[in-house]
Amino acid sequence: MTNRKKIAAGNWKMHKTFAEGQGLAQEIRTMADTELMNDAQLLIFPPYIHLQGLAKQLEGSKIGIGAQNINQFEQGAYTGEVSASMLTSIGIHYTLVGHSERRQYYNETNDSCAAKIVIALKHTIVPVYCIGETLTERETNQHFSIVEDQLHALKGLSNEDISKCIIAYEPVWAIGTGVTASSDQANEMHKHIRVVLTRLFDEHIAQGISILYGGSVKPDNAKELFSQSDIDGALIGGAALASRDFINIAKSF
Ligand code: PEP
Repeated sequence: MTNRKKIAAGNWKMHKTFAEGQGLAQEIRTMADTELMNDAQLLIFPPYIHLQGLAKQLEGSKIGIGAQNINQFEQGAYTGEVSASMLTSIGIHYTLVGHSERRQYYNETNDSCAAKIVIALKHTIVPVYCIGETLTERETNQHFSIVEDQLHALKGLSNEDISKCIIAYEPVWAIGTGVTASSDQANEMHKHIRVVLTRLFDEHIAQGISILYGGSVKPDNAKELFSQSDIDGALIGGAALASRDFINIAKSF
């Protein structure tokens, strides 16, 4: 029996004005306080511009708050970017790294993700490293090797650092499409991820890391996914924009 953290993480993407975000955060907080009786950790990843306000609003709550992206450099002439020390200066200690939309639209690579993970950890920010194959890669039976290549971005981290990371397996074909990987397909990949982590680090590390599943997770499929041996939670897009759905997913552990 492992002791891995159970996590429900909401990726708000580019949704919600600040007032709407404040409202959503407040609803989540109230529902979490009154209804959430398990030990699930709740994380939200709002747009950058809302982070400082929402971090203040959620002070003293059970809800963790993180950025959707981080820059890989300490500081400098990188117009439009936000650094790790800027995030910690406003109390942010989580970040997504390598979400498939950033890999697809903003040319993020396994190498740039590796650099982002290193700088995040250096600044006491927990990276939630997103990996997953496209539909073509699955159909051509490359999904295991693609995910293995993506995991190589973690190579070289110390055992202490890797144990702070969270991994999110998000098959690209299941994100925002309404198509969920079956719980068997997801669990099979989560087990493969632990095999690769055992090779890169050791069995103890591999068994201790929380691996989230992402891709059209909803209240009605969360329980089945969370009942799998190697699925420790979810990274949730669409359903995280409605407090009721988000909380109901978190109650499914
Ligand atoms: C995501 O954006 O990480 C995601 C999983 O989205 P959705 O839940 O909408 O598929």
